[in-house]
Amino acid sequence: MNIPPFRYLRAADEKAALGGLASQDSALLAGGTNLVDMMRLGVMRPAVVIDVSRLPLSRIDVTPEGLSLGAMARNSDVAHHPLVREHFPVLAEALLSGASPQLRNLATVGGNLLQRTRCVYFRDVENPACNKRNPGSGCAAMDGWTRMHAVLGTSDSCIAAHPSDMCVALAALDAVVHVRGPKGERAIPVADFHTIPGARPEIETTLGRDELIVRVTAPATAFSKRSRYVKVRDRASYAFALASCAACLEIDGSGIVKQARVALGGVGTKPWRSLDAERAIVGKKPAADVFRGAGEIAMNGARTRPDNAFKVELGQRVVARALELAARAP
Ligand code: SF4
Repeated sequence: MNIPPFRYLRAADEKAALGGLASQDSALLAGGTNLVDMMRLGVMRPAVVIDVSRLPLSRIDVTPEGLSLGAMARNSDVAHHPLVREHFPVLAEALLSGASPQLRNLATVGGNLLQRTRCVYFRDVENPACNKRNPGSGCAAMDGWTRMHAVLGTSDSCIAAHPSDMCVALAALDAVVHVRGPKGERAIPVADFHTIPGARPEIETTLGRDELIVRVTAPATAFSKRSRYVKVRDRASYAFALASCAACLEIDGSGIVKQARVALGGVGTKPWRSLDAERAIVGKKPAADVFRGAGEIAMNGARTRPDNAFKVELGQRVVARALELAARAP
């Protein structure tokens, strides 16, 4: 499909980027791996494209306090950063499990936070029934092919799965998204950044349309180092998760779990943190039955369709496996 004409604005600084966002029909271009895809498909047709790729927002800092990632930091640079690998292995593993090396070389932290769903009906503009693309038009997935769709956080309006691996790791790491807008800077916990569809699936995040993501931070904790990411997909690479889990554990000197983090991908309409699963682990010794129980709790409340009912057991197993690997981590 030909991309309709649009105005291109190369932002020299943040002020210019924010000025461009004042246009109602604008979109930010960072790595372009998602936006250009969406424009080629005709799903997104912004009148103004604001290129923010040259803004000086690509620093990666790992300090005793924690991690700070500039919004323009490339996924590959984050994944291969030696201190990220050492202190936040779950993040490096999640990033390396996503997309392809070529895409990771271009994709940015900010773009990854904002990537759109891969629901096939959302991406097919010939299909008129998509509440996310055309609010109020219906949802073709409800009676369609749903192998890749969500089972947690769904609504009668939308069952699209959130596609990111990175965001699942960030949810487990208690990360925070820092954004700037006309009213200044604010911090949004990753847990509150993405929204469940409810009756408004076209709203996907709590980012204001006049705000720019500038960085993401995560605290250095005992559990951020003992962390693992497990992803199950249809192909060994370049495939979205059927189910994934970011698991982090802090185990005290007597072998008891002091803190736990469990977040799931591929099964939820947003990166899916399970506080109930975490509570079920804390205070216990790491053991297979404890982790299996946490997996069952994590998938409680799943609403399935015939094509994706398998995700309940798969999600349970992926949680148990990720926790087992985290428990064994040095
Ligand atoms: Fe659109 Fe959501 Fe339905 Fe997919 S699941 S067709 S994104 S409304």
